[in-house]
Amino acid sequence: MNCKGVIHEISNYIDGELDLTIRHELERHLEHCEDCTLVLDQTRKSIEILCDSEPIPLSAEVHSRLRAALREKFAKKPA
Ligand SMILES: [Zn+2]
Repeated sequence: MNCKGVIHEISNYIDGELDLTIRHELERHLEHCEDCTLVLDQTRKSIEILCDSEPIPLSAEVHSRLRAALREKFAKKPA
């Protein structure tokens, strides 16, 4: 899995919705990719803030907004 794949799956990963195989791939990537570890960390923190008082899963809208924001962030970064 590359960085793009991680970003694509990151909200599912946080929600625990990923297949075990994909999750393992993602975790293997995180072990050696500082960028994605940072993105995961920041995403987790934003979700904690967003969901502070609601212990419900993220809505589809939040998912897509989050993905768009992350994609934009990565697009600005040199590969
Ligand atoms: Zn990465």
